[in-house]
Amino acid sequence: MDVIVLGGGLMGSASAYFLARRGARVSLIERNLVGSGATVASFGNIRRTGRHLAQLPLAHRSLSLWGEADKMLGRDVEFRATGHIRLIFDEDGLADMRAYAEAARPWGLELEELTPREIRARFPGLGPDAIAASLSPYDGSGNPRLIAPAFAEAARKLGAEIIEDAEVETIRRTGSSFLVTTSKGTFAAECLLNTAGAWGARIAAQFGEAVPLDARGPQMGVTEPLPHRILPVVGIWTRDKNYGAYLRQVERGNIVFGGAAERVSVDLDPGHAAADPMRLPAQLRAVARLLPSIAQVAIIRTWSGCEGYVRDMLPVMGRSGTTPGLFHAFGFSGHGFQLGPGAGDAMAELITTGRCETPLDDFSIDRFHRVSANQSKK
Ligand SMILES: Cc1cc2nc3c(=O)[nH]c(=O)nc-3n(C[C@H](O)[C@H](O)[C@H](O)COP(=O)(O)OP(=O)(O)OC[C@H]3O[C@@H](n4cnc5c(N)ncnc54)[C@H](O)[C@@H]3O)c2cc1C
Repeated sequence: MDVIVLGGGLMGSASAYFLARRGARVSLIERNLVGSGATVASFGNIRRTGRHLAQLPLAHRSLSLWGEADKMLGRDVEFRATGHIRLIFDEDGLADMRAYAEAARPWGLELEELTPREIRARFPGLGPDAIAASLSPYDGSGNPRLIAPAFAEAARKLGAEIIEDAEVETIRRTGSSFLVTTSKGTFAAECLLNTAGAWGARIAAQFGEAVPLDARGPQMGVTEPLPHRILPVVGIWTRDKNYGAYLRQVERGNIVFGGAAERVSVDLDPGHAAADPMRLPAQLRAVARLLPSIAQVAIIRTWSGCEGYVRDMLPVMGRSGTTPGLFHAFGFSGHGFQLGPGAGDAMAELITTGRCETPLDDFSIDRFHRVSANQSKK
């Protein structure tokens, strides 16, 4: 089986690897460098807490692959299962956390509830005013710079062709195959996998499939390096989005943070997302609630990245509704880093066997067309 994978972010590179491992002949076409889209900009959170419940089977599949990544890919991609703590500062946050923990348990996610005394004893310096916290001990983080190039390199070793800096000129369906002409030549295959991230809706539209997707950029920052003391990834349960911050300390000592700032809008041409310095002071106030000592530290860089947010905040994954041989995996709506290895493995399973053991129905591209068809019947 031949497959063209269009878009070399985490989704495309992981799919290329798992497809090649299943014996498919793969051409991965990326118009820039592998991993240089939303993936490299990611905060690196490998978090299951708070996910839409229907995403948990895919998130579990992905977490176990993150755990094998170093061995599987032959290099350290800095996955560390340090745990993910979410601090709680009010009764609404506590009620939301308990309701989520109960709902998530049958889906295989166990959250521990920590008291203020346990937070102080186990995680000194975090959230002195917190009234409780949730802890997901097996989650953690990975390095967003390393993972997509590692998958692409491992795919290449299995025989996949990795084509970078290739401007795609046309994508056509001819008979039973796809023909993609690019600045680096023409490629033909019986299957086409659309992993073009925020640009994925454009590819889908060429095949008559409209997806409501906005390109936006979460705002991120990083401090100077400090002695390494904060082990888990830190977030918050809150209904107030002005306080929805998160942070983690990388092993080199820098504290990376994000959240609590409205996402910047991004023009898909050329797709460069820029952090807005005006949003930084309010963002830092929210981060300081989680870690007061951040007020003493210098910020050395801010950035953003172009991510595709689908209207219902769920990705588009699965078969095309219009075109045999076409598959989609895009629009990961700000939480695709954790899902990446699982999404690549699931897409490879679906493409090569025609079925997938992980339920993907909630992510089908048909969900938008079902809604429009029902609306037009009313
Ligand atoms: C600032 C930021 C922080 C984030 N933090 C987290 C986090 O902590 N945890 C989490 O789970 N998720 C996080 N995310 C989301 C996560 O990073 C993304 O969901 C994930 O990386 C998406 O991967 P992708 O492969 O779909 O997209 P991308 O990485 O954007 O890759 C798509 C690729 O397709 C290429 N492309 C587009 N059109 C074409 C074309 N026509 N021809 C060829 N190539 C094309 C692009 O150049 C790009 O390289 C964050 C995102 C951002 C932006």
